[in-house]
Amino acid sequence: MAGAASQTEHELKETLIFSPRYAIDIGPHVFPTRKYSLVRERFADRPVKEPGPATWEQLALVHTPEYLTKLRDGTMTREDIAQLELPWSREMVDGFRTMVGGTIEAAASAVSSRHGAIHIGGGLHHAFPNHGEGFCPFNDVAVAARLLQLQGVERLAIIDLDVHHGNGTAFIFESDPRVFTFSMHQQHNYPMWKPRGSLDIGLPDGAGDVAYLRELERALPQALAHRPEAIFYLAGADPYEDDLLGGLRLTKGGLRQRDRMVIDAVRGASLPIVITLAGGYARRLEDTVAIHAATIEEALAA
Ligand SMILES: [Zn+2]
Repeated sequence: MAGAASQTEHELKETLIFSPRYAIDIGPHVFPTRKYSLVRERFADRPVKEPGPATWEQLALVHTPEYLTKLRDGTMTREDIAQLELPWSREMVDGFRTMVGGTIEAAASAVSSRHGAIHIGGGLHHAFPNHGEGFCPFNDVAVAARLLQLQGVERLAIIDLDVHHGNGTAFIFESDPRVFTFSMHQQHNYPMWKPRGSLDIGLPDGAGDVAYLRELERALPQALAHRPEAIFYLAGADPYEDDLLGGLRLTKGGLRQRDRMVIDAVRGASLPIVITLAGGYARRLEDTVAIHAATIEEALAA
């Protein structure tokens, strides 16, 4: 009986965060913004917390006033839009502001519960202070990390396992020794310029499960050795073998093992974990959804 009670209590500690506003209309696009609602449907029996949009003041903890003005007023240049690779609209800006709000909410929940929170969204790691790129208008994890620091949670680690290097995140925290930025990615892929993070592992094309998991096992203790007080995990689905924008050729089983390895390591160190989904562009949308759902299953089971 006590076991059942503590099981329920444990499950309630895992907060799911999601908003239907993430299904942003960006026209025909390789980025399937429908994936968020489809992942949420997989956990329809669980309650979700719905975030409000990040305020412009919160966004200004990371982004420059000039850049925020362009997004707010719709005065982005053609070059800005080409670099962001998303069409500007009020709905786009508000949808992504809400997504930043989701990561802020997840970080607050994870730290206050001293356990974890799962954001069915986020991981917009290509956004820089003064511009957006690669489908990322705002850097949600960076904004949430800055807010935690303001609340006294200063030492953080970011484990970024999206197939693409976390260029914006690395740049933002380059001169902040309190934040350990770890990115493991496909070396010969976007972005061309990879600002140096605390630990960057650029894998060769077609690395596969075995090499990937071996590198990860070696790297995780380095992130933990930084003695972070909380961890952000970007669980990108795009290292998958049938991804249109990735070429690391991991299987679904390999990706699930990856998630378990990260979650076990963080739990083993008794640290709160903030999980965001990041990229995923599988040829079949249902594969991307299944990979993200597996990440959440592993987090709920841990
Ligand atoms: Zn990616």
